[in-house]
Amino acid sequence: MDEMLKIVNVNKTYKINKYESFQALHNISVSFKSGELVSIVGESGSGKSTLMNLIGGLDSDFTGNIIVGDQDLSKLSDRELDKYRKDKVGFVFQSFNLISHLSILDNVTLALTLSNVSEKEKVERATNILKLVGLESQIKKKPTQLSGGQKQRVAIARALINNPDIIIADEPTGALDTTTTMQILKILKEIADSGKLVIMVTHSEKVASISSRVVEISDGRIVSDKQNPKYKKTKSKIFKEKVSEEKKDKKNKPLKQNLSYLSAIKLSFHNMWASKTKNLLMAFGVAIGIGSLILMLCFSSGITDYINATMKSYSDPTIVTISKQSKDGLPLFDVDNGEITTIMDGINEYLSQNGYDFEVTEDNCSPGFNCPTISTQISAYFEDDLNNDGDFERLDIFYFYTTPPYYSEDVVDGTLPTEEGGIMFAPAVYNFFGDIDPIGEKVDFSISINIPGFNTTINIDNAIITGIVDTSVMSGFPIVYINYDFFEKEYKKYSNGAALQPTTYYIQTRSENLTEAESEEIASAINRYISTLEGYSGSIEESLANMFQSMADTIGTSLIILSAISLLVSAIMILVVMYMSVSERTKEIGVLKSIGARKKDIHRIFSSESFLVGLLSGICGLIVAGVLILIIYIILINLVGIAPLSFKWYYVFIALGVSIVISISSGLYPASKAARLDPVESLRRE
Ligand code: ADP
Ligand code: MG
Repeated sequence: MDEMLKIVNVNKTYKINKYESFQALHNISVSFKSGELVSIVGESGSGKSTLMNLIGGLDSDFTGNIIVGDQDLSKLSDRELDKYRKDKVGFVFQSFNLISHLSILDNVTLALTLSNVSEKEKVERATNILKLVGLESQIKKKPTQLSGGQKQRVAIARALINNPDIIIADEPTGALDTTTTMQILKILKEIADSGKLVIMVTHSEKVASISSRVVEISDGRIVSDKQNPKYKKTKSKIFKEKVSEEKKDKKNKPLKQNLSYLSAIKLSFHNMWASKTKNLLMAFGVAIGIGSLILMLCFSSGITDYINATMKSYSDPTIVTISKQSKDGLPLFDVDNGEITTIMDGINEYLSQNGYDFEVTEDNCSPGFNCPTISTQISAYFEDDLNNDGDFERLDIFYFYTTPPYYSEDVVDGTLPTEEGGIMFAPAVYNFFGDIDPIGEKVDFSISINIPGFNTTINIDNAIITGIVDTSVMSGFPIVYINYDFFEKEYKKYSNGAALQPTTYYIQTRSENLTEAESEEIASAINRYISTLEGYSGSIEESLANMFQSMADTIGTSLIILSAISLLVSAIMILVVMYMSVSERTKEIGVLKSIGARKKDIHRIFSSESFLVGLLSGICGLIVAGVLILIIYIILINLVGIAPLSFKWYYVFIALGVSIVISISSGLYPASKAARLDPVESLRRE
């Protein structure tokens, strides 16, 4: 028999703290052959487990040499040690150390999973090994459904799965009764007799008496080493056959070293399933943040879509609006200096240069006067005491317009106001009149215009409401429309005859010798030209829409900041939960390392778990968003009649992406902590 394991002058010292250390092993030198069943005996604390951990490659911090075949453990790198643990040794522990959330099959094949062996081969090999220990019928059960003896047989099967040369068993029967102890011993003996080296630590005289050799350790020194002359090999050949068969197999198929991402995700899934409630609660916490993020996006884009849609619906594509931009006061065109004439000349030059057969003249270019309450104070007084409170009703106007040429299509009730007087309101005024028909009602109203250098109040008496106009984008606001010429006439009474300076000009491109399409093309050409002019913009509605948009953006941004904060809280929550999960699963990590898992593999398992948490949270987040959107939609529809919420398909990816990125990045630290755990300490943990 060849010498399989040679220990030469090994010393092991534990650091207790900065200043003190404790020498657990003193100059250990001993050799073992394959086929031996060795019992290591000795008092508690004598150094037995310490020696086992060194032989098993779990602890590489020692002096001296441990030579296994052609390898010297003291000279191996971390990765070579991982491989050594995976291929050369199998561990059996006193407390079984099975992973409770995995099935018997998955526990046994863990080492194969780490080597990315196919599912079919895993099942085949595990079934064969479980047959040897008499458990082939239990393959689908969970560890908690087995007795102590059965658990230990599963652990032995797990140790054997990679056909190792050495089996290390630290008090394998310590937790078992006499009958089961003998069953386990019989299996270990058969394994030894099949040509493997089995080293077991035991306290039991009886167990020791069955082994082929007994080594006694006391205070970290070998004090006796006796062969058992009465040791007889078993007659059973099943393990022997299995071993030679496996040997052939192994030569043909060198194991790949990597745990695949898919297997890592599978392992994590089992673990997450085992603590469903915790994970669902956590996912729900993250989902609130994700859900509100999606809600904000829907709200933001909903408002944009709404504004764009309504802008499109009322503006006539053959009419070009030119408004003056102003930072203070009202944006007024300078009539005296012929500002609009200069612009018209520019437009006409541009049109002829670009080959359009159209000319802007005084006939197709009309002025307008539009102002919001920002620069004016407008109140309308109605002649009737509409709600019988003894006062004439007063309505504060949000926006004052002269009727633009394209409004004729939008008049929903009555007619456009004429030069002889008469005004129109937006549909919001209906609320004000209740049951009374507003058409034909008499209105006095006053406008205070605050132009820098020119403040004036214009009182218009006995105007009559001639119509209601609905431009959808602003139909909810109290807006008044008046004929331009009529307004200019009234204005002149207060301005000593000075002409009214318009805020806007409308160019009508429709004409007899042009088709509708040609008119529209000319209108867009003019719009292109105006956009190059500095200090001028399109319609007031457009700037109003822009104002709404920027308001919506501001609200959207602050809500996004809020959801960012809640996502940050979620991230910390994931970090804490994952961190605690690492502590809870210390033992499992130790087991994984003992069967050859590399740091990378452990990292991968925990990162997969963060990934799954992220995926789950993202899905929950989408559900939360769906519910919130529905509730808010119903509320808004009932309250204001519109619900500017729009969901875009790519929000699904934003939700999943954000939540996966957040949970993977918050899981990074716990994962690397798990990967760095010292296997010896993790296994010692109770
Ligand atoms: P046995 O398995 O024979 O009961 P161990 O090998 O577990 O004994 O321990 C041998 C000695 O080393 C004991 O005195 C124990 O207290 C000490 N020891 C074990 N692990 C550590 C450690 N991580 N740090 C300090 N001392 C340790
Ligand atoms: Mg021990």
